[in-house]
Amino acid sequence: MADPRAWTRREALGLLGMGAAAAALPTQLLAAPTFPKGAVIRTVLKDYAPEELAGGATLFHEHMSFQDDFMTRWTGYAADTRRETAMPGAAQAPAAARPASATPPPAPPSTPSGQYFMRDLAYQTEEMKLAKADGVAFIVDGGHPDMGRDINFLKQISQQSGLPIVAGGGFYTQPFYPKEIATWSEEQVFQALMKQAATEPIGCWGEIGSWDWITKDERKVFRAVGRASVATNLPIFTHTGIPGKSALEQLDIFEDVGVDPKKVVIGHVGNLVDANVEVHRAVCRRGAFIGFDRQGAPGDTQQVPMVIKLLEAGYANNIMIASDLSNIAQTKQGKGPGYARALTVFVPKLKEAGANEAVLKQIMNDNPRQFLAFVPKQARKG
Ligand SMILES: [Zn+2]
Repeated sequence: MADPRAWTRREALGLLGMGAAAAALPTQLLAAPTFPKGAVIRTVLKDYAPEELAGGATLFHEHMSFQDDFMTRWTGYAADTRRETAMPGAAQAPAAARPASATPPPAPPSTPSGQYFMRDLAYQTEEMKLAKADGVAFIVDGGHPDMGRDINFLKQISQQSGLPIVAGGGFYTQPFYPKEIATWSEEQVFQALMKQAATEPIGCWGEIGSWDWITKDERKVFRAVGRASVATNLPIFTHTGIPGKSALEQLDIFEDVGVDPKKVVIGHVGNLVDANVEVHRAVCRRGAFIGFDRQGAPGDTQQVPMVIKLLEAGYANNIMIASDLSNIAQTKQGKGPGYARALTVFVPKLKEAGANEAVLKQIMNDNPRQFLAFVPKQARKG
């Protein structure tokens, strides 16, 4: 539901008799986040009370640890999907049945020590220190075993940088599923997820994706993840095929198995560019969060009016912002804006467009904590 205290721009103009140039977006602060008794934010090193992590922004969807061929595979599958979309009917085989793209992109540049950056402890420790200096209180890694996420690596860079890191769990998308998924029942997928939560200190399920339009296997995984969320209280953030494909269906599945939409972020929907923010509002109206989670790049000026529109509609409580960093060129040592780019590059654009600075601070500092805090149903492992 829209926050009744948030003014629309039209109301503000009418009441204050201001000209458009002097108009400001809602300036009233959002309600402070509320956390149930016993709620924690589970990082790879320890559980925190949500209040302990209030002193900065949270990036709810980034990547610090991938298998070294992950992005090469990802880019290849994405090229295949684009080709199929351009030629409808050209390839109906599910993504898992396809060979990798015939022309894989060149290997990504390595760090000064010759490693893939997401395998380079010193490099990633430095990036985490730089993110912390940019005002980040903690950061979420959206990988899990099928993406080659290494939880011990995350522990080491967190320990050495002093930046708390939350690790995700789950299964990613159809092209990356372990082959067992095709033959497993929903119950078997659920059991595999519960085993992940029982063996690693994961703090959420994410990113859980549909690669393109959601497939039969992906629906099975979504149902199992929804059930695992109910069983563990861990929140969920998703990946939608760009741009925002199957977003509402993802939410339908979670709600169908009993997940409270307040515990869900539907991801990458910011990439569904629509001046009316129709799907975005539909997600917010149902109480879930909407992910503007590939921000902090030159192209993200097109998301600015969409966020403004959602703020005007009273949905500041439902907006989640991150950058989904995946490329060394985006890191500071790679001469990019760094892990905090959603905060240091995108948020200033919103402010420039008229968004209230204090509201933006709450979106960056409070919304992710509200989303990630959960009351554990079992003791942490690891
Ligand atoms: Zn991601």
